[in-house]
Amino acid sequence: MCNSKNLETWKKGKIKSVNVEEFKITDHQYGKHWDLLRCKDCEFIFSDPFPPVEISKIYERIVDPEYVEEEEGRGGNFRSILKTLDRILKNKGSFLDVGSATGIMMNLAKKEGWDVYGVELSKWAVDEAKRRYGIEIVQGDFSEVEFPEDFFKVVCLIDIIEHVSNPKEVIEKVWRILERGGAAVVVTPDIKSFTAKVMGEKWWHFRPAHIGFFSKKSLFHLLRSKGFEIVKLKRYKWRFSLYYIVSRIKLLNKIANSRFLKPVFKRIPIILPLMDSLEVYARKI
Ligand SMILES: [Zn+2]
Repeated sequence: MCNSKNLETWKKGKIKSVNVEEFKITDHQYGKHWDLLRCKDCEFIFSDPFPPVEISKIYERIVDPEYVEEEEGRGGNFRSILKTLDRILKNKGSFLDVGSATGIMMNLAKKEGWDVYGVELSKWAVDEAKRRYGIEIVQGDFSEVEFPEDFFKVVCLIDIIEHVSNPKEVIEKVWRILERGGAAVVVTPDIKSFTAKVMGEKWWHFRPAHIGFFSKKSLFHLLRSKGFEIVKLKRYKWRFSLYYIVSRIKLLNKIANSRFLKPVFKRIPIILPLMDSLEVYARKI
């Protein structure tokens, strides 16, 4: 990230192999991580050795119906981002959601008048977006898909950058395809958050699919080094249904999935002010 060689072993991991199930967005296998190294200069923490799998190949095969079930909760998160963008930018324009999953964000942005584009690895998710909202998403790897330069007013990387092996290149590309004055939105787990510290090894962002962990310092460093100006930092509040939370607790899973309670729990919205993700708005200057 910062070209420093000043690295230390940060945590030893327990993962020896991976399967596609563990790479779902809704995966419940919390507390699993690779051997992690930390840069003493910029605070970036990353898996080393690199996972012995081609991660993009795994994402292509992901099928995750549970993700779609949480449309309401996830939509709440995305609406709040759209509202913030309205405050930061004077007018709407073209909007790219990188890793658009089943198109929930794209659908909301489109309704608000954005001209939406998406790129997503999972074939299932791309088909789902088309089926549910009639939205076309390019299936492929953001690094490999070509986009015009100076084109987008907004590029969103929501829970993406912790999954990629080349965050520096990803941010560089985002900068290139944004128009001047346009904004990048980056949401990613905050390894230095209070929640992460309290939960220790059990933190839910320790999972096989997460291979890079940022703090405010390392994320700001990355964005500024590529020419971005940080406009706003927020702490992401997670919105879920009560069902999503209860079904994730081993002892309560059966109750959550009972025929009578499941629909009730699904209608009860919960906001978790965990503040353990960074939500950064950065402008191309
Ligand atoms: Zn560094």
